[in-house]
Amino acid sequence: MIVALAGGVGGAKLAHGLAMYLPPEEVTVVVNTADDFNLYGLRICPDLDTVMYTLAGVANPETGWGIAGDTFAALEMISRYGRSTWFRIGDRDLATHVIRTSMLTQGMTLTAVTGDLCGALGVRSRVLPMSDEFVSTVLDTNDGELEFQEYFVRRRHEPEVRGVSFRGIEVARPTDAVVSALHEAELVVFCPSNPIVSIGPILSVPGMRETLEACAAPKVAVSPIVGGRALRGPADRMLDSLGHGSSALGVARLYEGLVQGFVMDAEDAAYEPDVRVLGMRVLVADTVMRDDVDRRELARRTVELGRSLVESGIGAE
Ligand code: GDP
Ligand code: CA
Repeated sequence: MIVALAGGVGGAKLAHGLAMYLPPEEVTVVVNTADDFNLYGLRICPDLDTVMYTLAGVANPETGWGIAGDTFAALEMISRYGRSTWFRIGDRDLATHVIRTSMLTQGMTLTAVTGDLCGALGVRSRVLPMSDEFVSTVLDTNDGELEFQEYFVRRRHEPEVRGVSFRGIEVARPTDAVVSALHEAELVVFCPSNPIVSIGPILSVPGMRETLEACAAPKVAVSPIVGGRALRGPADRMLDSLGHGSSALGVARLYEGLVQGFVMDAEDAAYEPDVRVLGMRVLVADTVMRDDVDRRELARRTVELGRSLVESGIGAE
């Protein structure tokens, strides 16, 4: 079993690559749920949906999120009722939130609901929320405190982030499904997702770090920062404003002690010696996933790096 830790778009692409390179049943994706929020009485889980739609082959290729070919009639009507519609929900996407919310209301866990939705869409990999408890990211910005989607979507991640907290995280726990997946893992992959607000919440779930540390498998991270920049979104500016530095090295430092392998882009090759000093074996590769071929190839090279660590006795099969 390969366990991938993922946020939204960047994580979903590599998870998809893994599910193409390996038998999809052998891939488990543990997904950030600190972006989750409630809107119009519905529970929305943006990162879970991005991973689910991507693995199901229905994601919108232009945006990376939402469903390909979706329409927005419901949102137009919601707008006529005078409600704000800055969070774009397509008609088909809306169905996901309606069904998810109804199952949660009946008392099912988010883990069970996600398994049910993924099964219906024909996803053969396992997609697991990091925890079943509701956690929400709150950002301290130069414009005051902002809820995650308010910052990310409504304010187009323009405000400068000075601090990040995860409300509710104290009572969150890694689910049994996550713990047993990590128990069975031969390799753990930290996908190229935002290290602060996508991988960060997963690692902040009390008990998650300990579970990862107790997991004998090698752990390998793929940098979401390429040539000092995020390919999309605010990861570069966040790394800078929080003092980590917007570089592959800044990302590697955040994972020091947790991962033994690091994949960085050819553009960042100059950082290789510095990352090696952190105790990581480094693979320099083309990490920009433009199409399915790139996704599968980056997955293959990442898995190979993991296997090379096993061969050197770092992490057990
Ligand atoms: P979000 O939840 O949709 O914001 O997505 P994630 O947190 O999973 O991913 C955001 C990060 O993914 C950004 O920092 C991007 O630079 C990174 N990313 C997106 N596509 C790629 C890619 O093809 N290669 C790499 N290396 N990083 C990527
Ligand atoms: Ca996200």
